[in-house]
Amino acid sequence: MNRKISLLLASIFALVISTPSHAFWSLFNSSYTKTKYPIVLAHGMAGFDNIGPLDYWYQIPNELRKDGAKVFVTQVSSFESSEVRGEQLLRQVEEILAITGAAKVNLIGHSHGNQSIRYVAGVIPHRIASATSVGGPTKGSPAADLIMQASELPVIGSPATGLLTSVVDGFGWLLGFGAGEKLPQDSYAGLQSLTTAGATAFNAKFPAGVPTTACGEGAYSVNGVRYFSWGGTGTMTNLLDPSAYAMAAVGLSFVGKADSQNDGLVGRCSSRLGKVIRDNYYMDHLDEVNQILGLVSIFEANPKSVFRQHANRLKNAGL
Ligand code: CA
Repeated sequence: MNRKISLLLASIFALVISTPSHAFWSLFNSSYTKTKYPIVLAHGMAGFDNIGPLDYWYQIPNELRKDGAKVFVTQVSSFESSEVRGEQLLRQVEEILAITGAAKVNLIGHSHGNQSIRYVAGVIPHRIASATSVGGPTKGSPAADLIMQASELPVIGSPATGLLTSVVDGFGWLLGFGAGEKLPQDSYAGLQSLTTAGATAFNAKFPAGVPTTACGEGAYSVNGVRYFSWGGTGTMTNLLDPSAYAMAAVGLSFVGKADSQNDGLVGRCSSRLGKVIRDNYYMDHLDEVNQILGLVSIFEANPKSVFRQHANRLKNAGL
């Protein structure tokens, strides 16, 4: 063997055995996701409750942590109004600020978490570096409109048109109730907030970052808070994932709508907030948080990579 190669191998071996393993592996870690401020994740309707609130962001927190980010996973009511959930998140953000001593945090909200993070950014903008919406219904969801109409029956899954039944059944499946069962009472408040009318009312109170045109971008920075968003337009992205079928059924509620491309629950244009990173990932609503159990499209960027890239974007922006 070439003497130089032998020396090199010997040196590497010596390094491996003489270095504590965590320090050795840190030689290969980058600070790619090491944002200046902690990242706080805010979930959506955790009725995807079969998933469980803590695993909601499947493998995403660790993916961010391994290259330097401090990540906190928060938990609010599964179903409540945007304001109640926002107030719950506000308290947790204040705790995180106190525990870490950080001057600010970066908020990332999925689905109904969109409204939660905007609530907090609206109330304490001086403590928020950025607010990023992932698959968030900034302008509401026709699925929520349709399900609210159906729920006035008020038994979900009541005989109705084929389309309505598909949408309601798909939604019920996602939330963990069988067709024909009643929605829990507090789900009405949550659903109401996600209707077009509910979202419009919330936007009047918390307008920061909301596009003023039908499908434009919103302000990139308001009161010192940077606003970002991304969303998906994928359907049946992974046939092994049972949630893909339910998501596709719920997506039928978009047929004939102006904002018809959707991720199953949120329209492409409705997902827009602040600076639009991309609004048409080939992901359905649950793929966006790498669910279920990583069953996502193999023909699209992995959701974990999209989160990593965003952490790097925040880092490079000094956030
Ligand atoms: Ca999926």
